[in-house]
Amino acid sequence: MQTVSDYFGCLVFDDRVMKANLSAKVYQSLKKTIDEGAKLDISVANAVATAMKDWAVANGATHYTHWFQPLTGITAEKHDSFITPSPDGGVIMEFSGKELIKGEPDASSFPSGGLRATFEARGYTAWDPTSYAFIKGKTLCIPTAFCSYGGEALDKKTPLLRSMEALNKQALRILHLFGNDTVKCVRTSVGPEQEYFLIDEAMYEQRRDLRFTGRTLFGAKPPKGQEMDDHYFGVIKPRVAAYMDELNNELWKLGILAKTEHNEVAPAQHELAPIYTTTNIATDHNQLTMEIMQKVAAKHGLVCLLHEKPFAGVNGSGKHNNWSISTDTGVNLLSPGETPYENAQFLLFLCAVIKAVDDYQDLLRISVATAGNDHRLGANEAPPAVVSIFLGDELNAVLDAIENDTPYQGTEKTQMKLGVNVLPKFNRDTTDRNRTSPFAFTGNKFEFRMLGSSNSIACANIMLNSAVAESLKIYADRLEQAEDFETALHEMIRKTIKDHKNIIFNGNGYDDSWIKEATEKRGLLNYRTTADCVPHLLDKKNVDMLTSHRVFSEAELKSRYEITLENYCKTIIIEANTMVDMAKTEIAPAVAAYAADVAGAAAAKKSVDASLACTYESGLVKKLSVLCDRIAEKTAELEAALLELATAEDIGTEANLIRDKILVKMSELRLACDEAETVTAKDYWPFPTYGDLLFGVR
Ligand code: ADP
Ligand code: MG
Repeated sequence: MQTVSDYFGCLVFDDRVMKANLSAKVYQSLKKTIDEGAKLDISVANAVATAMKDWAVANGATHYTHWFQPLTGITAEKHDSFITPSPDGGVIMEFSGKELIKGEPDASSFPSGGLRATFEARGYTAWDPTSYAFIKGKTLCIPTAFCSYGGEALDKKTPLLRSMEALNKQALRILHLFGNDTVKCVRTSVGPEQEYFLIDEAMYEQRRDLRFTGRTLFGAKPPKGQEMDDHYFGVIKPRVAAYMDELNNELWKLGILAKTEHNEVAPAQHELAPIYTTTNIATDHNQLTMEIMQKVAAKHGLVCLLHEKPFAGVNGSGKHNNWSISTDTGVNLLSPGETPYENAQFLLFLCAVIKAVDDYQDLLRISVATAGNDHRLGANEAPPAVVSIFLGDELNAVLDAIENDTPYQGTEKTQMKLGVNVLPKFNRDTTDRNRTSPFAFTGNKFEFRMLGSSNSIACANIMLNSAVAESLKIYADRLEQAEDFETALHEMIRKTIKDHKNIIFNGNGYDDSWIKEATEKRGLLNYRTTADCVPHLLDKKNVDMLTSHRVFSEAELKSRYEITLENYCKTIIIEANTMVDMAKTEIAPAVAAYAADVAGAAAAKKSVDASLACTYESGLVKKLSVLCDRIAEKTAELEAALLELATAEDIGTEANLIRDKILVKMSELRLACDEAETVTAKDYWPFPTYGDLLFGVR
């Protein structure tokens, strides 16, 4: 029998394949490009392209594609076959270095937020050799960046790579100051934990809200929800187990390190976590994982919902972004070290993150902003929209001691003096207890928990990498000029703790009193919705920081502002239209039909015996009629609110109108329909209920 190690990565043009199929010279040259970003020679590209094509064809591929991540949040591909006509009337399979390096998809329909004038509608894609090519179906997929002809990034990968480079540059400056000259490269790594729902495909097909919007727009609370906590880590049902089994196999073939799987809190909710890897690759892998989750589900008669809030009243789905910084020599810079010097270095990197998260709370909030995620953040199931950091008692005590120059009350009472003391070993268990913090230190990494399940992890990591690069830059600027390195270092760490301790919160983030304290006492930001936060992307401090590290140009930021708000508006408008449609053509007719039949039944009874009161029927008919009228009224109000959107002169105003009017009218309409569901006979209800959907997979 084949074991996992036999077929793991069999669809990936990875290091093993490269070594086996490239000449030593070409391999070394490509390695230099991958590891150190060296420029790639066209002769090397040609050799790589030929080897890649031969390998792909031998594995059944007929086409290739430049695989990229436009600003839609999903991935895009346009397939070209390898065939080239030969003089004898046949074909040969060809693929050149030029085709590998650069592609020119006709991409005028991708969102560009005004970046690309129509006369230069074509963008181009450029090979990212740091992420391995792979085969999907019959197509060789080459991970690429996507830019306009002017060089502006039209995708998520380009700024992500730039942010990794920015952090690398500043982190190396710091490491050199600590006398570490062997390190060539510093990279961030991510392990994203992915939550999702699985529901029955036949039921999904009957609900237009799920089909058009990925979430339910109606649905009364079922008699049973998640209150028994009997799903979390529960036994996996056979149909789901078969799904997970095939999913793992498909992911492993693609070299994706799928590791953990379990049931989540809500019924029908599950989670998959891979082993962490370099951020850029983790991002590609997470996009692929989401795609394959949906594909494999279809094979099992299931639908995988990646929406942040498919069902009201039970938990939504998020994505935990476990993030760390490490060197090419294998040192995790967020791990307390063995020597006093390493500890000082650890504390400096820790402070850099604390400062970054405090200074750029808004960018972190913006990086996870979507209409879908707005339903989660602050809804007592996910971290609030307020960003804060959890450090755990032990690390907190260390920072306290440094700030106040008092003895550290740890295992031994020691005066914490940097460069002299060894930090006590952290007990990972004590740092990992808080599940309510948006940004938690978990022993040797930070876990950013505000991401929505459908978000590309690129956005969050772009902001995180850039903000930390900025802290490190400020530190390096200061330390490089310092007369006495240790004193300056100590002072800087103290100052960071003093200036930024407001962002540190170790209590319960789900508690309402925290929001009050955070906003009123600590002055932390609380942007509840996408419409609230996204305009701050263009705040001067944010533009200055992101442009100074060359992660975004100003034009690119403006385009992201436009596109993010446009997505928000379009998403909610589609939802509103779907609600209007379902209310008018499915729900109201069902309720009216039931009312008519009940009235008919009462009339029939009375025709037999006129003295019968028929109080049940008449009460019900009255109630149904009132609800039917309310549904009609609320539908009309929602339609009127939608018409009002035409008056908005720019995207910001439209987003605000949507937040203040459309969402309010949508929830009023839903309330009326959900109430009607509770009094309408099940046979009349036009689509599967929450109970059916949440408990329908066995
Ligand atoms: P949980 O958060 O459920 O307790 P873990 O903390 O063990 O689980 O791991 C969750 C995720 O964090 C996994 O994807 C894992 O690979 C990743 N992870 C572990 N160590 C690191 C690290 N140093 N850097 C980034 N991610 C990491
Ligand atoms: Mg976790």
